[in-house]
Amino acid sequence: MVEGSSAGDQRKPKSSGAPIVVMKFGGTSVQDAAAIHRTISIVKGRRDRGLRPVVVVSAMAKVTDQLLLAAEAAAVNDTQQAMEISRSLRERHLGTAADLVGRNIQAVAKVIHENFDKLEDILRGVAAVGELTKRTIDLISSYGERLSSRIVADAFEHRGIRSAHVDARTCIITNSHHGRAVPQTELIGARLHEHVLPLLEVSAIPILGGFIGSAANGITTTLGRGGSDFTAALVGSGLNAGAIEIWTDVNGIMTTDPRICPDALRVRALSFEEAAELAYFGAKVLHPSTILPAVKKDIPVWVLNSHNPLNEGTKITAFAPRSSSPLKSISAKKHLTIIHIVSSRMLMSHKFLRASFEVFDRYACAVNMVSTSEVSISVSIDATDELPGIIADLSQIATVRTEERKALICLVGENIQGHKGLSERVFSAVREINLDMISQGANGINMSFMIDGTAVEGAVRSLHREFFADPDPAIFDLANTGKAVASAVLSKPRIADPSGVAKPAFAGVP
Ligand code: ASP
Ligand code: MG
Repeated sequence: MVEGSSAGDQRKPKSSGAPIVVMKFGGTSVQDAAAIHRTISIVKGRRDRGLRPVVVVSAMAKVTDQLLLAAEAAAVNDTQQAMEISRSLRERHLGTAADLVGRNIQAVAKVIHENFDKLEDILRGVAAVGELTKRTIDLISSYGERLSSRIVADAFEHRGIRSAHVDARTCIITNSHHGRAVPQTELIGARLHEHVLPLLEVSAIPILGGFIGSAANGITTTLGRGGSDFTAALVGSGLNAGAIEIWTDVNGIMTTDPRICPDALRVRALSFEEAAELAYFGAKVLHPSTILPAVKKDIPVWVLNSHNPLNEGTKITAFAPRSSSPLKSISAKKHLTIIHIVSSRMLMSHKFLRASFEVFDRYACAVNMVSTSEVSISVSIDATDELPGIIADLSQIATVRTEERKALICLVGENIQGHKGLSERVFSAVREINLDMISQGANGINMSFMIDGTAVEGAVRSLHREFFADPDPAIFDLANTGKAVASAVLSKPRIADPSGVAKPAFAGVP
Protein backbone atom coordinates (compact mmCIF):
# COMPACT_ATOMS: atom_id res chain seq x y z
CA MET A 1 0.00 0.00 0.00
CA VAL A 2 1.31 3.45 -0.86
CA GLU A 3 2.32 5.74 1.95
CA GLY A 4 0.01 8.53 2.88
CA SER A 5 -3.18 6.64 2.06
CA SER A 6 -6.20 7.47 4.17
CA ALA A 7 -7.00 5.69 7.41
CA GLY A 8 -9.94 4.04 5.68
CA ASP A 9 -7.70 2.57 3.05
CA GLN A 10 -5.33 1.20 5.61
CA ARG A 11 -8.09 -0.94 7.01
CA LYS A 12 -8.73 -2.60 3.67
CA PRO A 13 -7.16 -6.00 3.10
CA LYS A 14 -3.80 -5.68 1.42
CA SER A 15 -4.37 -5.09 -2.24
CA SER A 16 -1.51 -7.46 -3.02
CA GLY A 17 -3.52 -10.34 -1.49
CA ALA A 18 -5.73 -12.59 -3.54
CA PRO A 19 -9.47 -11.83 -3.46
CA ILE A 20 -11.25 -12.90 -0.31
CA VAL A 21 -14.28 -15.14 -0.72
CA VAL A 22 -16.67 -15.64 2.18
CA MET A 23 -18.16 -19.12 1.92
CA LYS A 24 -21.22 -19.82 4.08
CA PHE A 25 -22.43 -23.37 4.56
CA GLY A 26 -25.90 -24.06 5.95
CA GLY A 27 -26.93 -26.80 8.35
CA THR A 28 -27.30 -29.52 5.73
CA SER A 29 -23.76 -28.82 4.46
CA VAL A 30 -22.33 -29.63 7.91
CA GLN A 31 -24.92 -32.14 9.10
CA ASP A 32 -22.55 -35.10 9.33
CA ALA A 33 -19.02 -36.19 8.48
CA ALA A 34 -19.83 -36.86 4.82
CA ALA A 35 -21.32 -33.40 4.37
CA ILE A 36 -18.38 -31.77 6.15
CA HIS A 37 -15.94 -33.62 3.87
CA ARG A 38 -17.82 -32.31 0.85
CA THR A 39 -17.73 -28.81 2.32
CA ILE A 40 -13.97 -29.01 2.90
CA SER A 41 -13.38 -30.11 -0.70
CA ILE A 42 -15.38 -27.16 -1.98
CA VAL A 43 -13.38 -24.72 0.17
CA LYS A 44 -10.10 -26.35 -0.85
CA GLY A 45 -11.12 -25.95 -4.49
CA ARG A 46 -11.46 -22.22 -4.00
CA ARG A 47 -8.14 -21.97 -2.18
CA ASP A 48 -6.35 -24.01 -4.83
CA ARG A 49 -7.53 -21.48 -7.36
CA GLY A 50 -5.68 -18.77 -5.51
CA LEU A 51 -8.59 -17.28 -3.60
CA ARG A 52 -8.58 -16.63 0.13
CA PRO A 53 -11.64 -18.33 1.68
CA VAL A 54 -13.22 -17.30 4.97
CA VAL A 55 -15.70 -19.96 6.07
CA VAL A 56 -18.95 -19.32 7.97
CA VAL A 57 -20.95 -22.35 9.11
CA SER A 58 -24.41 -22.86 10.55
CA ALA A 59 -25.11 -25.31 13.32
CA MET A 60 -25.41 -28.92 12.15
CA ALA A 61 -28.88 -29.46 10.65
CA LYS A 62 -31.73 -29.29 13.21
CA VAL A 63 -29.39 -28.56 16.14
CA THR A 64 -30.73 -25.04 16.77
CA ASP A 65 -34.30 -26.42 16.88
CA GLN A 66 -33.20 -29.07 19.35
CA LEU A 67 -31.42 -26.56 21.58
CA LEU A 68 -34.54 -24.42 21.66
CA LEU A 69 -36.65 -27.45 22.57
CA ALA A 70 -34.25 -28.23 25.40
CA ALA A 71 -34.56 -24.64 26.63
CA GLU A 72 -38.36 -24.80 26.55
CA ALA A 73 -38.38 -28.14 28.36
CA ALA A 74 -36.11 -26.74 31.06
CA ALA A 75 -38.33 -23.67 31.40
CA VAL A 76 -41.30 -25.89 32.35
CA ASN A 77 -39.10 -27.88 34.71
CA ASP A 78 -38.92 -30.93 32.45
CA THR A 79 -35.24 -31.39 33.26
CA GLN A 80 -35.33 -34.99 32.13
CA GLN A 81 -36.38 -34.03 28.61
CA ALA A 82 -33.86 -31.18 28.49
CA MET A 83 -31.03 -33.50 29.56
CA GLU A 84 -32.13 -36.16 27.10
CA ILE A 85 -31.90 -33.67 24.22
CA SER A 86 -28.50 -32.49 25.41
CA ARG A 87 -27.30 -36.08 25.70
CA SER A 88 -28.29 -36.94 22.15
CA LEU A 89 -26.75 -33.73 20.80
CA ARG A 90 -23.53 -34.44 22.69
CA GLU A 91 -23.39 -37.90 21.13
CA ARG A 92 -24.10 -36.58 17.66
CA HIS A 93 -21.31 -33.99 17.88
CA LEU A 94 -18.84 -36.47 19.37
CA GLY A 95 -19.73 -39.06 16.74
CA THR A 96 -19.30 -36.63 13.87
CA ALA A 97 -15.99 -35.38 15.26
CA ALA A 98 -14.76 -38.94 15.66
CA ASP A 99 -15.73 -39.79 12.07
CA LEU A 100 -13.78 -36.74 10.91
CA VAL A 101 -10.60 -36.79 12.96
CA GLY A 102 -10.31 -40.41 14.08
CA ARG A 103 -7.58 -40.90 16.63
CA ASN A 104 -6.96 -37.17 17.02
CA ILE A 105 -10.28 -36.83 18.80
CA GLN A 106 -8.95 -35.92 22.28
CA ALA A 107 -8.66 -32.16 21.90
CA VAL A 108 -12.01 -31.64 20.16
CA ALA A 109 -13.77 -34.18 22.40
CA LYS A 110 -12.60 -32.22 25.41
CA VAL A 111 -14.07 -29.03 23.96
CA ILE A 112 -17.34 -30.78 23.10
CA HIS A 113 -17.67 -32.21 26.62
CA GLU A 114 -16.87 -28.86 28.23
CA ASN A 115 -19.49 -27.16 26.10
CA PHE A 116 -22.21 -29.68 26.85
CA ASP A 117 -21.36 -29.71 30.56
CA LYS A 118 -21.79 -25.95 30.57
CA LEU A 119 -24.99 -26.16 28.50
CA GLU A 120 -26.44 -28.64 30.98
CA ASP A 121 -25.56 -26.33 33.88
CA ILE A 122 -27.45 -23.56 32.12
CA LEU A 123 -30.46 -25.80 31.43
CA ARG A 124 -30.57 -26.86 35.09
CA GLY A 125 -30.36 -23.20 36.04
CA VAL A 126 -33.33 -22.40 33.83
CA ALA A 127 -35.29 -25.27 35.40
CA ALA A 128 -34.34 -24.11 38.91
CA VAL A 129 -35.51 -20.53 38.43
CA GLY A 130 -38.40 -21.51 36.12
CA GLU A 131 -37.70 -18.56 33.88
CA LEU A 132 -36.33 -18.40 30.34
CA THR A 133 -35.25 -14.95 29.23
CA LYS A 134 -34.40 -13.97 25.66
CA ARG A 135 -30.85 -13.49 26.77
CA THR A 136 -30.68 -17.07 28.01
CA ILE A 137 -32.33 -18.36 24.83
CA ASP A 138 -29.53 -16.67 22.85
CA LEU A 139 -26.91 -18.24 25.08
CA ILE A 140 -28.43 -21.73 24.73
CA SER A 141 -28.96 -21.52 20.98
CA SER A 142 -25.41 -20.24 20.41
CA TYR A 143 -23.96 -23.66 21.20
CA GLY A 144 -24.92 -25.06 17.79
CA GLU A 145 -22.65 -22.73 15.82
CA ARG A 146 -19.96 -22.65 18.50
CA LEU A 147 -19.61 -26.42 18.22
CA SER A 148 -20.09 -26.88 14.48
CA SER A 149 -17.43 -24.26 13.69
CA ARG A 150 -14.97 -25.85 16.07
CA ILE A 151 -15.54 -29.35 14.64
CA VAL A 152 -15.24 -28.12 11.06
CA ALA A 153 -11.99 -26.30 11.87
CA ASP A 154 -10.52 -29.48 13.36
CA ALA A 155 -11.63 -31.45 10.31
CA PHE A 156 -9.74 -29.02 8.04
CA GLU A 157 -6.60 -29.45 10.11
CA HIS A 158 -6.99 -33.21 10.00
CA ARG A 159 -7.08 -33.06 6.21
CA GLY A 160 -3.83 -31.11 6.28
CA ILE A 161 -5.41 -27.76 5.44
CA ARG A 162 -4.24 -24.90 7.57
CA SER A 163 -7.26 -23.37 9.29
CA ALA A 164 -8.11 -21.47 12.43
CA HIS A 165 -11.25 -21.48 14.50
CA VAL A 166 -12.46 -17.97 15.30
CA ASP A 167 -15.18 -17.54 17.92
CA ALA A 168 -17.55 -15.34 15.92
CA ARG A 169 -18.55 -13.57 19.12
CA THR A 170 -15.18 -11.81 19.18
CA CYS A 171 -15.97 -10.18 15.80
CA ILE A 172 -19.75 -9.90 15.37
CA ILE A 173 -20.50 -7.11 17.82
CA THR A 174 -24.19 -6.28 18.18
CA ASN A 175 -26.55 -4.30 20.35
CA SER A 176 -28.34 -6.10 23.21
CA HIS A 177 -31.58 -6.79 21.41
CA HIS A 178 -31.63 -10.49 22.25
CA GLY A 179 -33.23 -12.80 19.70
CA ARG A 180 -32.57 -10.43 16.82
CA ALA A 181 -29.56 -8.34 17.70
CA VAL A 182 -28.53 -5.47 15.44
CA PRO A 183 -24.93 -5.66 14.24
CA GLN A 184 -22.60 -2.72 14.79
CA THR A 185 -20.87 -2.66 11.44
CA GLU A 186 -18.05 -0.24 12.29
CA LEU A 187 -16.94 -2.30 15.26
CA ILE A 188 -17.33 -5.53 13.31
CA GLY A 189 -15.04 -4.20 10.56
CA ALA A 190 -12.39 -3.34 13.13
CA ARG A 191 -12.65 -6.72 14.89
CA LEU A 192 -12.43 -8.64 11.63
CA HIS A 193 -9.29 -6.73 10.76
CA GLU A 194 -7.88 -7.56 14.14
CA HIS A 195 -8.84 -11.24 14.38
CA VAL A 196 -9.45 -12.58 10.88
CA LEU A 197 -7.20 -10.68 8.49
CA PRO A 198 -3.95 -11.75 10.20
CA LEU A 199 -4.99 -15.39 9.68
CA LEU A 200 -5.43 -14.80 5.96
CA GLU A 201 -2.02 -13.19 5.87
CA VAL A 202 -0.44 -16.41 7.11
CA SER A 203 -2.57 -18.44 4.67
CA ALA A 204 -4.81 -20.04 7.26
CA ILE A 205 -8.51 -20.49 6.50
CA PRO A 206 -10.58 -18.79 9.22
CA ILE A 207 -13.68 -20.75 10.29
CA LEU A 208 -16.47 -18.89 12.08
CA GLY A 209 -19.89 -19.92 13.31
CA GLY A 210 -22.75 -17.92 11.81
CA PHE A 211 -25.77 -16.57 13.71
CA ILE A 212 -23.95 -15.68 16.95
CA GLY A 213 -22.47 -12.44 18.19
CA SER A 214 -21.90 -10.55 21.38
CA ALA A 215 -22.98 -7.25 22.80
CA ALA A 216 -20.35 -4.71 23.83
CA ASN A 217 -20.53 -6.09 27.37
CA GLY A 218 -19.50 -9.53 26.08
CA ILE A 219 -22.91 -11.11 26.53
CA THR A 220 -23.81 -13.62 23.81
CA THR A 221 -26.44 -12.52 21.28
CA THR A 222 -27.89 -13.96 18.08
CA LEU A 223 -28.90 -12.37 14.78
CA GLY A 224 -32.25 -14.21 14.54
CA ARG A 225 -33.21 -17.53 12.97
CA GLY A 226 -31.43 -18.18 9.69
CA GLY A 227 -28.88 -15.58 10.76
CA SER A 228 -25.80 -17.27 9.33
CA ASP A 229 -26.38 -15.68 5.92
CA PHE A 230 -26.34 -12.36 7.73
CA THR A 231 -23.01 -13.24 9.36
CA ALA A 232 -21.57 -14.10 5.95
CA ALA A 233 -22.64 -10.74 4.54
CA LEU A 234 -21.25 -8.88 7.56
CA VAL A 235 -17.93 -10.68 7.29
CA GLY A 236 -17.77 -10.15 3.52
CA SER A 237 -18.59 -6.49 3.87
CA GLY A 238 -16.17 -5.96 6.77
CA LEU A 239 -13.31 -7.58 4.87
CA ASN A 240 -14.20 -6.10 1.47
CA ALA A 241 -14.49 -9.58 0.02
CA GLY A 242 -14.61 -10.11 -3.74
CA ALA A 243 -17.63 -12.39 -3.40
CA ILE A 244 -19.90 -14.10 -0.90
CA GLU A 245 -21.07 -17.62 -1.54
CA ILE A 246 -24.14 -19.02 0.18
CA TRP A 247 -23.87 -22.80 -0.19
CA THR A 248 -27.24 -24.51 0.15
CA ASP A 249 -28.82 -27.70 -1.14
CA VAL A 250 -30.53 -26.27 -4.22
CA ASN A 251 -29.02 -25.17 -7.52
CA GLY A 252 -29.86 -21.52 -6.98
CA ILE A 253 -32.94 -19.46 -7.61
CA MET A 254 -35.27 -21.00 -10.19
CA THR A 255 -37.83 -19.43 -12.50
CA THR A 256 -40.46 -21.16 -10.39
CA ASP A 257 -40.83 -24.08 -7.98
CA PRO A 258 -39.53 -27.10 -9.95
CA ARG A 259 -41.85 -29.38 -7.97
CA ILE A 260 -44.79 -27.58 -9.56
CA CYS A 261 -43.20 -27.01 -12.93
CA PRO A 262 -40.50 -29.44 -14.08
CA ASP A 263 -39.53 -27.00 -16.85
CA ALA A 264 -38.36 -24.40 -14.31
CA LEU A 265 -34.98 -22.92 -15.26
CA ARG A 266 -32.12 -21.79 -13.08
CA VAL A 267 -31.85 -18.01 -12.99
CA ARG A 268 -28.20 -17.13 -13.54
CA ALA A 269 -28.37 -13.58 -12.28
CA LEU A 270 -30.86 -11.25 -10.66
CA SER A 271 -30.91 -8.07 -8.66
CA PHE A 272 -31.13 -7.76 -4.94
CA GLU A 273 -34.61 -6.24 -5.20
CA GLU A 274 -35.86 -9.07 -7.36
CA ALA A 275 -34.48 -11.61 -4.89
CA ALA A 276 -36.13 -9.68 -2.06
CA GLU A 277 -39.55 -9.80 -3.72
CA LEU A 278 -39.24 -13.51 -4.35
CA ALA A 279 -38.25 -14.27 -0.79
CA TYR A 280 -41.05 -12.16 0.63
CA PHE A 281 -43.58 -14.07 -1.42
CA GLY A 282 -42.51 -17.59 -0.67
CA ALA A 283 -39.21 -18.57 -2.34
CA LYS A 284 -37.17 -19.85 0.58
CA VAL A 285 -33.59 -19.85 -0.64
CA LEU A 286 -32.38 -16.94 1.47
CA HIS A 287 -33.58 -13.87 3.31
CA PRO A 288 -32.33 -11.07 1.08
CA SER A 289 -32.35 -8.47 3.83
CA THR A 290 -29.59 -10.48 5.46
CA ILE A 291 -27.29 -10.01 2.48
CA LEU A 292 -27.88 -6.26 2.37
CA PRO A 293 -24.50 -5.36 3.94
CA ALA A 294 -22.81 -7.08 0.99
CA VAL A 295 -25.10 -5.66 -1.67
CA LYS A 296 -24.56 -2.15 -0.34
CA LYS A 297 -20.84 -2.60 -0.94
CA ASP A 298 -21.46 -4.03 -4.38
CA ILE A 299 -20.14 -7.44 -3.42
CA PRO A 300 -21.87 -10.12 -5.50
CA VAL A 301 -23.64 -12.85 -3.55
CA TRP A 302 -23.83 -16.32 -5.08
CA VAL A 303 -26.34 -19.01 -4.16
CA LEU A 304 -24.68 -22.38 -4.81
CA ASN A 305 -25.42 -26.06 -4.22
CA SER A 306 -22.99 -28.01 -2.04
CA HIS A 307 -24.44 -31.27 -3.38
CA ASN A 308 -23.73 -30.14 -6.91
CA PRO A 309 -20.71 -27.83 -6.77
CA LEU A 310 -20.22 -27.85 -10.53
CA ASN A 311 -23.42 -25.93 -10.92
CA GLU A 312 -22.90 -22.21 -11.42
CA GLY A 313 -25.69 -21.14 -9.08
CA THR A 314 -27.39 -17.74 -9.02
CA LYS A 315 -25.59 -14.43 -8.76
CA ILE A 316 -27.33 -11.63 -6.83
CA THR A 317 -26.07 -8.12 -7.47
CA ALA A 318 -27.16 -4.60 -6.60
CA PHE A 319 -28.46 -3.91 -10.10
CA ALA A 320 -30.35 -6.21 -12.40
CA PRO A 321 -28.42 -7.47 -15.39
CA ARG A 322 -29.94 -6.63 -18.75
CA SER A 323 -32.48 -9.20 -19.84
CA SER A 324 -34.72 -9.49 -22.84
CA SER A 325 -37.24 -11.48 -20.78
CA PRO A 326 -39.75 -9.40 -18.83
CA LEU A 327 -39.83 -11.79 -15.85
CA LYS A 328 -37.15 -13.43 -13.73
CA SER A 329 -39.33 -15.69 -11.65
CA ILE A 330 -42.84 -16.65 -10.58
CA SER A 331 -43.45 -17.50 -6.96
CA ALA A 332 -46.49 -18.91 -5.25
CA LYS A 333 -47.39 -18.69 -1.62
CA LYS A 334 -50.13 -20.92 -0.26
CA HIS A 335 -52.07 -21.05 3.01
CA LEU A 336 -53.23 -17.47 3.00
CA THR A 337 -56.44 -15.94 4.28
CA ILE A 338 -58.19 -12.99 2.69
CA ILE A 339 -60.09 -10.70 5.05
CA HIS A 340 -62.65 -8.37 3.48
CA ILE A 341 -63.35 -5.47 5.82
CA VAL A 342 -66.32 -3.27 4.97
CA SER A 343 -66.65 -0.13 7.06
CA SER A 344 -69.77 0.19 9.15
CA ARG A 345 -69.38 3.93 8.42
CA MET A 346 -69.07 4.85 12.05
CA LEU A 347 -65.58 6.09 11.30
CA MET A 348 -64.29 8.52 8.73
CA SER A 349 -62.45 6.82 5.92
CA HIS A 350 -58.93 7.63 7.13
CA LYS A 351 -59.77 6.63 10.68
CA PHE A 352 -61.25 3.41 9.38
CA LEU A 353 -57.99 2.56 7.61
CA ARG A 354 -55.95 3.33 10.66
CA ALA A 355 -58.21 1.42 13.03
CA SER A 356 -58.14 -1.63 10.74
CA PHE A 357 -54.38 -1.71 10.48
CA GLU A 358 -54.00 -1.20 14.20
CA VAL A 359 -55.69 -4.56 14.62
CA PHE A 360 -53.06 -6.30 12.47
CA ASP A 361 -50.37 -4.43 14.34
CA ARG A 362 -51.77 -5.58 17.68
CA TYR A 363 -51.52 -9.21 16.56
CA ALA A 364 -48.06 -8.64 15.00
CA CYS A 365 -49.67 -10.04 11.86
CA ALA A 366 -47.85 -9.32 8.60
CA VAL A 367 -50.10 -8.32 5.73
CA ASN A 368 -49.12 -9.75 2.34
CA MET A 369 -51.34 -7.73 0.12
CA VAL A 370 -53.88 -4.92 0.38
CA SER A 371 -56.55 -3.49 -1.87
CA THR A 372 -58.84 -0.67 -0.81
CA SER A 373 -61.80 1.49 -1.71
CA GLU A 374 -63.35 4.37 0.21
CA VAL A 375 -65.32 2.09 2.51
CA SER A 376 -63.69 -1.30 2.26
CA ILE A 377 -60.32 -3.00 2.48
CA SER A 378 -59.26 -6.48 1.52
CA VAL A 379 -56.04 -7.79 3.02
CA SER A 380 -54.34 -11.11 2.77
CA ILE A 381 -52.46 -12.60 5.70
CA ASP A 382 -50.72 -15.91 6.43
CA ALA A 383 -53.11 -18.48 7.91
CA THR A 384 -52.97 -17.95 11.68
CA ASP A 385 -54.51 -19.28 14.89
CA GLU A 386 -55.15 -15.65 15.82
CA LEU A 387 -57.81 -15.31 13.11
CA PRO A 388 -60.82 -15.44 15.50
CA GLY A 389 -59.30 -12.64 17.62
CA ILE A 390 -58.50 -10.54 14.58
CA ILE A 391 -62.04 -10.96 13.23
CA ALA A 392 -63.57 -10.10 16.61
CA ASP A 393 -61.52 -6.90 16.85
CA LEU A 394 -62.25 -5.84 13.28
CA SER A 395 -65.95 -6.52 13.78
CA GLN A 396 -66.04 -3.61 16.24
CA ILE A 397 -65.64 -1.21 13.33
CA ALA A 398 -66.68 -3.15 10.25
CA THR A 399 -68.47 -6.03 8.66
CA VAL A 400 -65.93 -8.78 8.15
CA ARG A 401 -65.85 -11.69 5.75
CA THR A 402 -62.97 -14.14 5.32
CA GLU A 403 -61.85 -16.53 2.61
CA GLU A 404 -59.39 -19.22 3.62
CA ARG A 405 -57.07 -21.54 1.65
CA LYS A 406 -56.09 -18.80 -0.75
CA ALA A 407 -52.77 -18.39 -2.54
CA LEU A 408 -50.74 -15.52 -3.85
CA ILE A 409 -49.00 -15.64 -7.20
CA CYS A 410 -46.21 -13.13 -7.64
CA LEU A 411 -44.44 -12.32 -10.90
CA VAL A 412 -41.07 -10.65 -10.44
CA GLY A 413 -38.76 -8.86 -12.86
CA GLU A 414 -37.12 -5.46 -13.23
CA ASN A 415 -38.66 -5.25 -16.70
CA ILE A 416 -42.26 -5.48 -15.52
CA GLN A 417 -42.36 -1.73 -15.10
CA GLY A 418 -43.64 -0.11 -18.22
CA HIS A 419 -43.70 -3.35 -20.15
CA LYS A 420 -46.50 -2.86 -22.65
CA GLY A 421 -48.88 -5.74 -23.08
CA LEU A 422 -47.58 -7.61 -20.05
CA SER A 423 -50.83 -7.59 -18.07
CA GLU A 424 -52.68 -8.76 -21.13
CA ARG A 425 -50.34 -11.75 -21.40
CA VAL A 426 -50.73 -12.46 -17.68
CA PHE A 427 -54.49 -12.30 -17.71
CA SER A 428 -54.85 -14.36 -20.83
CA ALA A 429 -52.56 -17.05 -19.37
CA VAL A 430 -54.84 -17.36 -16.34
CA ARG A 431 -58.16 -16.50 -17.99
CA GLU A 432 -59.80 -19.70 -16.70
CA ILE A 433 -58.98 -18.77 -13.12
CA ASN A 434 -60.78 -16.39 -10.81
CA LEU A 435 -58.41 -13.62 -9.64
CA ASP A 436 -59.23 -12.11 -6.24
CA MET A 437 -56.96 -9.16 -5.63
CA ILE A 438 -54.55 -7.68 -8.11
CA SER A 439 -51.66 -5.45 -7.21
CA GLN A 440 -48.51 -3.98 -8.61
CA GLY A 441 -45.84 -3.02 -6.09
CA ALA A 442 -44.67 0.58 -5.96
CA ASN A 443 -41.12 -0.47 -6.84
CA GLY A 444 -42.47 -1.57 -10.20
CA ILE A 445 -40.83 -4.98 -10.21
CA ASN A 446 -43.68 -7.20 -9.14
CA MET A 447 -47.21 -7.98 -10.10
CA SER A 448 -49.28 -10.19 -7.87
CA PHE A 449 -52.75 -11.55 -7.43
CA MET A 450 -54.65 -13.93 -5.21
CA ILE A 451 -56.29 -17.11 -6.38
CA ASP A 452 -57.83 -20.18 -4.86
CA GLY A 453 -55.24 -22.51 -3.28
CA THR A 454 -56.40 -25.35 -5.51
CA ALA A 455 -55.64 -23.36 -8.68
CA VAL A 456 -51.95 -22.72 -7.94
CA GLU A 457 -50.39 -25.54 -9.93
CA GLY A 458 -52.36 -24.82 -13.07
CA ALA A 459 -51.77 -21.07 -12.88
CA VAL A 460 -48.04 -21.39 -12.33
CA ARG A 461 -47.59 -23.85 -15.20
CA SER A 462 -49.60 -21.76 -17.56
CA LEU A 463 -47.77 -18.51 -16.66
CA HIS A 464 -44.41 -20.25 -16.91
CA ARG A 465 -45.28 -21.54 -20.37
CA GLU A 466 -46.28 -18.03 -21.41
CA PHE A 467 -43.22 -16.21 -20.10
CA PHE A 468 -40.38 -18.72 -20.30
CA ALA A 469 -40.99 -20.31 -23.69
CA ASP A 470 -38.17 -18.25 -25.18
CA PRO A 471 -35.89 -17.31 -22.29
CA ASP A 472 -32.83 -15.05 -22.54
CA PRO A 473 -29.86 -17.48 -22.42
CA ALA A 474 -27.68 -14.86 -20.74
CA ILE A 475 -30.01 -14.83 -17.74
CA PHE A 476 -31.43 -18.36 -17.64
CA ASP A 477 -29.62 -21.67 -17.80
CA LEU A 478 -31.49 -23.48 -20.52
CA ALA A 479 -29.71 -26.76 -19.79
CA ASN A 480 -30.60 -26.62 -16.14
CA THR A 481 -34.32 -27.19 -15.90
CA GLY A 482 -35.77 -28.80 -12.82
CA LYS A 483 -35.93 -32.00 -14.89
CA ALA A 484 -32.29 -31.80 -15.88
CA VAL A 485 -30.97 -31.23 -12.37
CA ALA A 486 -30.78 -34.91 -11.47
CA SER A 487 -29.02 -35.90 -14.68
CA ALA A 488 -26.73 -32.85 -14.57
CA VAL A 489 -25.26 -34.12 -11.32
CA LEU A 490 -24.31 -37.37 -13.01
CA SER A 491 -23.21 -35.97 -16.32
CA LYS A 492 -19.74 -34.71 -17.18
CA PRO A 493 -18.95 -31.23 -15.85
CA ARG A 494 -19.50 -28.56 -18.44
CA ILE A 495 -16.56 -26.62 -17.09
CA ALA A 496 -13.33 -28.51 -16.72
CA ASP A 497 -11.72 -27.45 -13.46
CA PRO A 498 -9.04 -29.44 -11.69
CA SER A 499 -10.43 -28.38 -8.31
CA GLY A 500 -13.76 -29.92 -9.19
CA VAL A 501 -15.59 -26.66 -8.51
CA ALA A 502 -17.29 -24.55 -11.14
CA LYS A 503 -15.27 -21.56 -12.32
CA PRO A 504 -17.75 -18.90 -13.39
CA ALA A 505 -18.71 -18.19 -9.82
CA PHE A 506 -15.83 -15.79 -9.87
CA ALA A 507 -16.66 -13.65 -12.77
CA GLY A 508 -17.36 -10.84 -10.32
CA VAL A 509 -14.10 -10.87 -8.42
CA PRO A 510 -11.94 -7.85 -9.10
N1 ASP B 1 -28.57 -22.19 13.13
C1 ASP B 1 -29.38 -20.99 13.01
C2 ASP B 1 -30.80 -21.38 12.70
O1 ASP B 1 -31.09 -22.55 12.55
C3 ASP B 1 -28.85 -20.02 12.02
C4 ASP B 1 -28.73 -20.51 10.59
O2 ASP B 1 -28.75 -21.72 10.35
O3 ASP B 1 -28.58 -19.69 9.71
O4 ASP B 1 -31.65 -20.55 12.62
MG1 MG C 1 -30.58 -20.66 6.16
